[in-house]
Amino acid sequence: MTIDLAQLSIRKAHDHLSKKDFSARELAQAYLRSIEKKDADVHAYIEIYDDVLLQADKADERIALGEADMLTGIPIAIKDNILIAGKKVSAASKILENYHATYDAHVIELLKKAGAVFLGRTNMDEFAMGGSTEHSAYGITHNPHDFSRVPGGSSGGSAAAVAMDGALAALGSDTGGSVRQPASFCGVVGLKPTYGNFSRSGLIAMGSSLDQIGPITKTVADAEILFRQLRVHDPKDSTSLAAYEEKKSTEKLTIGIPYDFLEKGVDPAVRKNFDESVKKLESAGYAFVSVSLPHVEHSLAIYYILMPAEASTNLARFDGVRYGLRADAPTLLAQYVKTRGRGFGAEVKRRIMLGNYVLSSGYYDAYYNKANALRSLVAKDFDTVFNGNGVRVHAIMTPTAPTPAFPIGARMADPLQMYLADIFTVPANIVGIPALAVPSGTMVESGKNIPLGIQFMGPHRREDILFRIGKSFLGES
Ligand code: GLN
Repeated sequence: MTIDLAQLSIRKAHDHLSKKDFSARELAQAYLRSIEKKDADVHAYIEIYDDVLLQADKADERIALGEADMLTGIPIAIKDNILIAGKKVSAASKILENYHATYDAHVIELLKKAGAVFLGRTNMDEFAMGGSTEHSAYGITHNPHDFSRVPGGSSGGSAAAVAMDGALAALGSDTGGSVRQPASFCGVVGLKPTYGNFSRSGLIAMGSSLDQIGPITKTVADAEILFRQLRVHDPKDSTSLAAYEEKKSTEKLTIGIPYDFLEKGVDPAVRKNFDESVKKLESAGYAFVSVSLPHVEHSLAIYYILMPAEASTNLARFDGVRYGLRADAPTLLAQYVKTRGRGFGAEVKRRIMLGNYVLSSGYYDAYYNKANALRSLVAKDFDTVFNGNGVRVHAIMTPTAPTPAFPIGARMADPLQMYLADIFTVPANIVGIPALAVPSGTMVESGKNIPLGIQFMGPHRREDILFRIGKSFLGES
């Protein structure tokens, strides 16, 4: 049968593979052809692996033996900050050019066990710092819906790959919105799991108390499939959650909207689409209430203190001795300085400086400690709304980003403008709760359909609620 990539989901591909309508090799070839055709314009990938068909053949052997898993033979793209043993991984940085991973990330181990096929590594903002994929040492990625716009970031390559049918699904990482915001800009689904649900072992660290790997897919059901496969306790990550039984919600759900928070610089087209999305869910039987999250407006400030603090510490290991690039110099100190000066891009350097500043004695109390204290107040706000004695909701809804995908170059000169794109996504990372971004339609500009998105946040470990709402919003069974 001819393979229509636009119609495929993981579940459908799995059914076809099981019925032998096509083989894993044919499926992988179809994706490789699609990438060949489209990636010259989009540049979602930094590298396509040379063993894709070999991996697919192994999957076919497994299918022939009747031992196929849901993910056996499913072509997946991997963000360039997740380790696959023996393959290059660079976090889109010059400092890790030609670095080869020495072990598999935990999520990769699980995907390998399931027989998934890795197509290649996707472009991203260097060390996941950015919201547009323009901060990559390997060129920018274009939005597949309009090449003049950014795909979002930092997992812009992963989102663009899925949106252009250059992968059936992808993995990204989300420290402050890097799975959800590009998913929204590219019109696909993105999940940031509860902190600790996916192991961070083998993820190149940015902000360790905020980082989570997350799936980017075409449907909510597919995000759920990947979530179930990858939500496995890992003793190698001390923050990995212990195994637990997932709850199942059957009751009528109430969704909270923090209306005060939505006043913050939201584009009128985004707001209109958001209000229409609420109406759509209302007619599907969901109840809505207005909720107040008094400290959430500080989330962006908290994030841009804690994240650079953690990132500057994590990036201290790139010293030219242990990994990747090494610039020769007469003394060890000069070697550090030269290597880091050459290896890191402007945005990474900016954050290292910010991080060192807020952690330095004299400023530590004024910034780092204060941000930490505020972090717990934001967490308390959410806890009150989810579990308190007053108005209680099952989920909270916001737009995913305050604007649609912006033009390439528009925010590069103004980092603060770039940071504003994260206003609705950072709270979930600060609090550690799960959040799901789903496409909510498009707006038309210059004859192009530009995707818009909405986000649902839920209580800790209640991804089930988010999947339920997301599926009913998109009309999935
Ligand atoms: N855009 C945010 C930042 O620049 C989020 C990054 C991320 O989630 N990795 O920090």
